[in-house]
Amino acid sequence: MQARIPIAVAAASAALAVAPAAAGAAVTHTVQPGETLSGIAAANGLTTDALAAWNGVASDHLVIAGASLSVPTPEEAGLGTTATGTAATGAATTAPGTAPAPWLGSIPSPWGDLYLDAGAAAAWSSMRQASLATYGVDLYPAGPLSAYRTSGQQGEMYELYLSGAGAPANPPGYSSHELGVSVDLATPAMRDIVDQIGWQYGWGKFEAPEEWWHVSWGGG
Ligand SMILES: [Zn+2]
Repeated sequence: MQARIPIAVAAASAALAVAPAAAGAAVTHTVQPGETLSGIAAANGLTTDALAAWNGVASDHLVIAGASLSVPTPEEAGLGTTATGTAATGAATTAPGTAPAPWLGSIPSPWGDLYLDAGAAAAWSSMRQASLATYGVDLYPAGPLSAYRTSGQQGEMYELYLSGAGAPANPPGYSSHELGVSVDLATPAMRDIVDQIGWQYGWGKFEAPEEWWHVSWGGG
């Protein structure tokens, strides 16, 4: 009997960079060359299983360029409405995280664990639970560099800004993201919630008035 090589599984597991679908409701995604079910799922904050189930295909289904997939929001797919749901999403898309520095704590995001100052992370987690319980809205950073940044990452963002390709960014050594006390929120709805309940957790809008997405922790 010929040995069966799990090519489909290997291909489906290779995560590629895929642009996230617009937030709000399920959208139709046209598969691009090189994309995989797991890559599309990860880019949209979904587990591969959830995206597969939503489309009625197996988790190791090989997507074909040009085919259409329906991409639900994590909430529609039954993910992200509870702490365990989002934690499962993070676990599926990243290896177990190790904090870049011992004074950091982790917070869940669609891109896996991100980091903040340990006090800021604990306060964020409490605020996030309250948001989920009260509003049914998850709170998470807009991208992998939207919470704690190393000075190297800040430097790269500053260079991008200077080149005209990136959003405004402070030079390394001058961003509260390097202190792990700021988050760039993913949606204006999240900002509304931080405005309403953040003060109870030390989170609020304390700096960068021209950036609605940038909120900070004022200390515990
Ligand atoms: Zn920011």
